[in-house]
Amino acid sequence: QIRDLSETLHVEPYLVGGFVRDLLLKRPNKDLDLVIEGDGIEFARKLHQVLGGKLDVHPNFGTATLDLNGFHLDVATARVEYYEYPAALPQVKPGRLKQDLYRRDFTINTLVISLSKEKFGWLIDFFGGNEDLKKGIIRGLHSFTFIDDPTRILRGIKFAVRFGFTIEEETDLLIRQAVEHGVIKELKGPRFWEELKSLLMEGKELKTLQYLDDYGILREIAPDFKLTDQQWKNLKRIDWVIQLFKDQCIVQRWLLVLMVIFANLSKETIERIANDWNLSLKDRAQLNFIHEEVYRVKEKLSEGKLRPSQIYNLLESLGSEELMYLVLISDSQLILDQVLEFYNRLRRIDVEVSGKDIINLGFSPGPLFKEVISKVKEAKLNGKVKSRE
Ligand code: ATP
Repeated sequence: QIRDLSETLHVEPYLVGGFVRDLLLKRPNKDLDLVIEGDGIEFARKLHQVLGGKLDVHPNFGTATLDLNGFHLDVATARVEYYEYPAALPQVKPGRLKQDLYRRDFTINTLVISLSKEKFGWLIDFFGGNEDLKKGIIRGLHSFTFIDDPTRILRGIKFAVRFGFTIEEETDLLIRQAVEHGVIKELKGPRFWEELKSLLMEGKELKTLQYLDDYGILREIAPDFKLTDQQWKNLKRIDWVIQLFKDQCIVQRWLLVLMVIFANLSKETIERIANDWNLSLKDRAQLNFIHEEVYRVKEKLSEGKLRPSQIYNLLESLGSEELMYLVLISDSQLILDQVLEFYNRLRRIDVEVSGKDIINLGFSPGPLFKEVISKVKEAKLNGKVKSRE
């Protein structure tokens, strides 16, 4: 349909970027980037008429997005710069497309597939991206790429860990120079955080953190940001701890990683980082999770001999990742048993008594109700309630 429409509208459509990369790697990708030599917005509107879906148009940028059951299509306009003669059809000017692609991050993201009728399916490769893809190489496009946009450093690491690729020697050097130059320290605003999150979400934290450590990115974020042997050990046990809780919950693995790596930073440092990155309240909370609370709970649990209701009260306010973090840092069978007892059994125990039951016994609603219910719950947790009656 894109091909047919491009013929009708006399424009040249190109598929570019991550989708092409993933197509060649035979990896699924549902985000299509289309660059139209011609009027991208008109193209998107017509495509919308043919395919349906949800269209959003951004006239100021010459772009539009089309959501089609599960696929997301970004349509951009590459301005056509010359006509062969007045009123002629616009000619494809690869120079324009090439310029557009030169602004991208890595060669593997600059591949293009033509979708026009005459050249349908042709692979256009201005920067040797196909060769790098075959060799498994992450290569930046020019020497200032990481100075221009330091978040590309994290993107490079992301693609390297995701595909098991190597960061090419020159690119590796440029990253080190940029970091030394202080680009990470100078970064303000949330983009670095967004890329960091996206990097940690790849789920390959050991490799990722080796890169971050090796490039000196952690200590640029904060001078005392250095992972200890214990933190590396905790990171290596993440698979084990997730496995323990596997059947019970969906864990945000990246959040657990974040807890481990930020654990030794002071509150002030975390506050400063959160301010530098201009984090939202939700993001702040994720970065600044309740370490003290987890350590307090750890102390209590390690005393042992707690009644089930006491275990319940200690653990109920912690989220899944925090419970896992507690197990990670504890390295103790006693604590593990109590956390699993809570997770597998105690938290599922229902009080089964409501205010209605108390009213039925002849009492009027009041502050006592809460106390009654909490006492019933405590008794139930401690196995002292044998039947509903
Ligand atoms: P993912 O697979 O993680 O979604 P992606 O590269 O496929 O990554 P986006 O992150 O949405 O998808 O980026 C889309 C395209 O935009 C990329 O192919 C890349 O060429 C370009 N791009 C994204 N961020 C940058 C950046 N910081 N600098 C230059 N180009 C970028």
